[in-house]
Formats: sequence, structure tokens, C-alpha cells
Amino acid sequence: MSSKFQYSFWEKETFLKPYDLIIIGAGIVGLSAALFTKRNHPSTRILVLDKGFMPEGASTRNAGFACVGSITEYIADLEKESAEGVKQRIVNRYRGLNLLKETLGENHIGYDACGGYELFTEEQPFEEASEYIPKFNKWMAELTGEEKVYKAGKLNGYHVIHNRLEGALHPGSMMQRLLQLVRAQDIEVKWNVKVEGVEQDGSVLLGNEIRLKADKVLVAANGFVKKLLPEVKVEPARGFVFVTNELEEMSWKGTFHHDRGYIYFRNISNRLLMGGARNIATIQETTDQFGVNEKIKDHLIKFSKDVLGLGKQWQIESEWSGIMGFTESKTPILERLDDHRFVAAGLSGMGVAIGTKIGSLAASMVMGKK
Ligand SMILES: Cc1cc2nc3c(=O)[nH]c(=O)nc-3n(C[C@H](O)[C@H](O)[C@H](O)COP(=O)(O)OP(=O)(O)OC[C@H]3O[C@@H](n4cnc5c(N)ncnc54)[C@H](O)[C@@H]3O)c2cc1C
Repeated sequence: MSSKFQYSFWEKETFLKPYDLIIIGAGIVGLSAALFTKRNHPSTRILVLDKGFMPEGASTRNAGFACVGSITEYIADLEKESAEGVKQRIVNRYRGLNLLKETLGENHIGYDACGGYELFTEEQPFEEASEYIPKFNKWMAELTGEEKVYKAGKLNGYHVIHNRLEGALHPGSMMQRLLQLVRAQDIEVKWNVKVEGVEQDGSVLLGNEIRLKADKVLVAANGFVKKLLPEVKVEPARGFVFVTNELEEMSWKGTFHHDRGYIYFRNISNRLLMGGARNIATIQETTDQFGVNEKIKDHLIKFSKDVLGLGKQWQIESEWSGIMGFTESKTPILERLDDHRFVAAGLSGMGVAIGTKIGSLAASMVMGKK
């Protein structure tokens, strides 16, 4: 910007007046944090900034699974962490989904209580996972009051474990509804504004040498958080999804997981959404750059043909990638860094279930006492 340019008295009194709270990232976490802060503290002056023309990370680019968790995923988690940690994750997902539905309304987010399945192509992993059904049903009953959540069965010739609590939704509608509620609270949201830095005194640096000031700054940039706060231990992880044309027949109705949740698919009416397989190229997919990994795409196409039996009359109509943020333990980071800066990031592939709850916890964190 030319050195001849200076801000007017009027601009400094209005547009550039320090905010009470600036939130970086208009994904499910950032917008939920804004909403809950304003609901609990109506006089708070809040600005939400996002680098994209719309949310540009994971919240509008995910598969729309509203999951409480599959058995093999929890078995894998138990190898890395304590039973208490896994139980906490179950509770967080269950309560998080209820909060999401309560806050946004099922009818506004295309919610379908379709149930979920874990699909097994081999006998032995199915038998091993099935042995855990009584244990996880007991945990579910104790933790959530829901009885007989998991049940073994058969579908399209494969062994499955059904989870009656799982559902599917439309992530675009979910985020539009959230934005509508945020706007109704007079919260300012600015798009196409990339934040270049966040300083300890609460200064937020934009391009064009603009420097905004806030009493509190919440960084809700998930997979991109390290660019702003290198000390925060959240690694980016790219996810890939495709959607087929309308198929004449759709024998896979509901949400499905396979291979500990690494492969997932669901129907959207008569289309198939297929995604995942990040684990076959973990190093290349540890990136915050959008793009398609052909090895992963080929793997998912092969799975669709060989395992799901999609015939010849199908094609991919849409494909895209999204950027997630993973912590080592999969538990999100909710942290006060210093007097002015806070972080809520690392949703680790579970943001639909826990994003609203993490946003509400972030709101309590930033408005809590120093
Ligand atoms: C392909 C894929 C499939 C998935 N499927 C599911 C699923 O089925 N179920 C489920 O529960 N979860 C799923 N997830 C995960 C889920 O979408 C995320 O956990 C959740 O959306 C994270 O929300 P967030 O608000 O933390 O991050 P995001 O939605 O990524 O929001 C962060 C925002 O910060 C903005 N930002 C970043 N840096 C800056 C900057 N410097 N300046 C300004 N703005 C910035 C970004 O543009 C972005 O909009 C999936 C993710 C992907 C990628």
C-alpha cells in the first residue's frame, strides 16, 4: 500500500476499532465458537475471518458422516491410549452430535438417521471385532444410556457390524445454516481475508499491511494452524472423496466404514460417495495443499468395483480433496497460549460429530477469567 494512504478518523472509529474477539477460520469450529460466545455474551464485538470465498478447509468438503465411532476404530485407539481416553471420545461424539442437531435443527442439515455399518471382507477380522460387541454395547449403555448399539449381521454377502446411532447429513447445508445463525446474531464474517500472522498482543496481521486488534484472538484454522502458530502440534492431513452419477440400483444404503475407518462410503440418494484410503500414502497426504493423489483414487475405484460390485454403468461425477488437522492422540487442542491468543484445532477427522461442541468449549475458554 502506498505510504500516501492513511486511514481516516472515521475508519479508525468503526471498521478498524479493536474487536473483543477475532476468530480466524469460518469452519464448523470457528463459527460455532462465534455463535456460542455471542449467545452467552451478547455485547461482545466479534469478527470472523476466513481466507476462502466460503469455508475452505474441511467443513464443507467432508463426507457428511455423523458418527459415534466404529468398533475397529475404537479397538485401534485402545492400542494407543487408555480406556478412559476412548470412553471420553465416545461421550464427546455422542453429546457433540446431539448438540449439533439441537443447535442447527435436523431438518436444516439434511440429517438422515440411516444407521451405519462396518464392512468386513475377511472372516478373521470380523470374528475378532465381533468379540468386542458386548464390551462396547456395555460401554455405550453406561456412557450414553443407549442400549444394544452394535449388532453383527450380513449385508450384500459381507459380514457387517451395524451401529444404529449413526447418521448422514449434508455438510453444505450444515454450514449454511450455521452461518445463517451467526449472521442473525450480528456477528461480522469476512471472506477472502487471509491472516498472515497473530501477535502476542492480540494484533492480527492481514495482507495490505492491515493490522486489526482484538482483546482475544481464537485461531480455529485446523489443518492450517501451524502456518500461524508453528508451536501448536496439529499436522495437516488431506482427505479425498468422489461422488458417482445416479445409479440405476443402489444396494448400499446408509453410512459405511471399512479397514478401521480408513475407507468410507455412503449413498446420496442413488449416488455413491466414496472416500478415504489416506493410509496408503500417509507421507504424501500429510499436506495442507489441495489435490488428488492418483494412487488413492485408483485404490478407491478398485474397491468400488471389486468389493461393492458397481457394474460398468458408473462414473465419477465430482471429486475433491479437503484438509483436516490431526493431533497425535486424535484429541483436539483447546488451549490458551497467552493473554490474548487461544487455539481450537485438531479435530482429527471427527469434526461433524464434535465440531459444535469444540466450538462451544472454545467460546467458554475465550470468555473465561484470565
Ligand atoms: C475429505 C474429508 C472427509 C471428512 N469426512 C468427515 C465425516 O464424514 N465426518 C466427520 O465427522 N468429519 C469428517 N471430516 C473431518 C471434518 O470435516 C473436520 O474435522 C471439520 O470440518 C474441522 O472443522 P474446523 O472448523 O476445525 O476446520 P475447517 O473446516 O478446516 O475450518 C478452518 C478454516 O480456517 C480457514 N483458514 C485457515 N488458515 C487461515 C488463515 N491464515 N486466514 C484465514 N482463514 C484461514 C480455512 O479457510 C477454513 O475455512 C472429513 C474431512 C475431510 C477433508
